[in-house]
Amino acid sequence: MLAGEQTRAQNFLVKLFAIVPLVALLAAVPFAWGWGLGWTDVGLAVGFYFLTGLGVTIGFHRYFTHGAFKANRGLRIALAIAGSMAMQGPVIGWVADHRRHHAYADRDGDPHSPWRFGTTPAALVKGFWHAHMGWLFQREQTNARRFAPDLLADRDIIRINRWFPALTVVTLLAPALLGGLITLSWWGAVTAFFWAGLVRVALLHHVTWSVNSLCHMIGDRPFAARDKSANFWPLAIASMGESWHNSHHADPTGARHGVRRGQLDMSARLIWVFEKLGWVTDVRWPRADRLARKLNPGYEASPRR
Ligand SMILES: [Zn+2]
Ligand SMILES: [Zn+2]
Repeated sequence: MLAGEQTRAQNFLVKLFAIVPLVALLAAVPFAWGWGLGWTDVGLAVGFYFLTGLGVTIGFHRYFTHGAFKANRGLRIALAIAGSMAMQGPVIGWVADHRRHHAYADRDGDPHSPWRFGTTPAALVKGFWHAHMGWLFQREQTNARRFAPDLLADRDIIRINRWFPALTVVTLLAPALLGGLITLSWWGAVTAFFWAGLVRVALLHHVTWSVNSLCHMIGDRPFAARDKSANFWPLAIASMGESWHNSHHADPTGARHGVRRGQLDMSARLIWVFEKLGWVTDVRWPRADRLARKLNPGYEASPRR
């Protein structure tokens, strides 16, 4: 299951990139009222948040991990690059970890279950921290040969996987460059680096990690799943549809996670647009009959279409 340990340097880098953006976020709060933040920064932050976030949700997660649709080569490459720019690790490792999560969800072998230490309050506090970000600091690595052999056999993906350090630089410096050019000032570059670089990365990190932690602890469970996955509506927009996590665990290969009426799922909407454009095919849209069979008692069937 495992393939050796992270090196000391790798372990240090994971910590650095997980903690530095968080500290930046906290330091940012006083900035919000006054100087050093403008519409350019907000626009760039929102733009990079959704570009990289959708790279993870549509690309790393629904496409590369679960094969919810088939994509043409151009889109496949674009999704791998956009997802890599979220700074959540290179694509192959991300996919291998997440497939292991589904294979062992909330049991021994799950890389990030909040239930790992038991169900007492103290164990759950520890478990929350572990599922949210503590697991990133452990030095065990998922065996990609076992969990992601398809990606290891793809030259494009191997190359993009290798570009991860460079893409980390790009995702932090591109907003600064754009901010500088738009405002024609060095100060504009600095504020864009701060808000659309560091703060944006930190926010997306915590939203993604919340799917691993909160969405295995609290929320609604309309579908029978072997694990404790839950639908947590407050994160529907920020997570681009990924917080409908109970529905996802009930039907992991589905292209839409917000399968019930009124459940916003931005990622599914964009996959639908890609399908209309002819860039993706064989999309696994939810099937009402399959979902109905998995409903927990007390829940009514509520298909979207
Ligand atoms: Zn899960
Ligand atoms: Zn998944």
